[in-house]
Amino acid sequence: MTSVARTRDDLAAIREEWRRDGSTVAVVMTMGALHAGHAELIRRAKARSDRVVVTDFLNPLQFAPGEDLDKYPRTFAADLEMCTAEGVDLLFAPGPAEVYANGDPLVRVSASVIGDVLEGRSRPGHFDGVLTVVAKLLNLTAADIAYFGQKDAQQLWLISQMVRDLDFAVEVVEVPTVRDGDGLALSSRNTYLVPQDRGQALALYEGLTLGVQAAATGADSALIATRAHLEAAGIQIDYVALVDPTSFEPFEGEGEAILLVAAFVGTTRLIDNVRLAVGVGADGRGG
Ligand code: AMP
Repeated sequence: MTSVARTRDDLAAIREEWRRDGSTVAVVMTMGALHAGHAELIRRAKARSDRVVVTDFLNPLQFAPGEDLDKYPRTFAADLEMCTAEGVDLLFAPGPAEVYANGDPLVRVSASVIGDVLEGRSRPGHFDGVLTVVAKLLNLTAADIAYFGQKDAQQLWLISQMVRDLDFAVEVVEVPTVRDGDGLALSSRNTYLVPQDRGQALALYEGLTLGVQAAATGADSALIATRAHLEAAGIQIDYVALVDPTSFEPFEGEGEAILLVAAFVGTTRLIDNVRLAVGVGADGRGG
């Protein structure tokens, strides 16, 4: 059975035991409402570490007023069950007053210019809130390895950059997006979708897939193909963008890129992305 720690003191006591027995520790950070995507991160963490800690913290700092903090799904009993089934050692599930013991932090991690584009443009302050809590949870868990999903590509890029820029002693491992059989990227927010939204939600991945095919003839073709499919599906697009995986700046030229989309299905905002090769011919070998 997975142990549960609600306070930083309980976490610290268990972490100290692990230090004494020489265990390597991996962390998987979540906001709860666990699904098979989270389970994949946990499995990879278990494969490489003696101990796995999952953090389950709905971080108010990364939600703007009017966003879905209040209605975000809370499924603690099921989360604990999944952690137990996956052999997680510890579920760290503190409340906001435990994490932000001194109130909202005055000093925060700033996400740089990349924190202001794409997701950051639509969600001002979001990535400062994400990076601040990730920094705190890295310190509190003192993990050797941390697992994050490619599903949240900009978040993953910013966390990797923070770890490099601020010399956190942790290895960041990225995990490919886990999808339903029909291609829809798993997300805790998919529970907001009513059955008739499902077809529209699927259009995100279909659009990205068409973009991957069109990318053989260039970046613009990829963007146009993805956008056209979303428009045909009647979806309100927030952005469709192609970025350089190294700099997260707008992609130019040929080579590896990330194609990203954010769109509204009904009132639910969904994001997805895929890795692709721009200008690579039909033989898949580049030209
Ligand atoms: P969340 O609970 O949504 O904040 O996600 C916690 C972690 O799980 C983050 O690193 C996400 O990128 C990752 N994650 C969420 N959904 C998926 C998915 N479908 N596939 C892979 N990783 C995911």
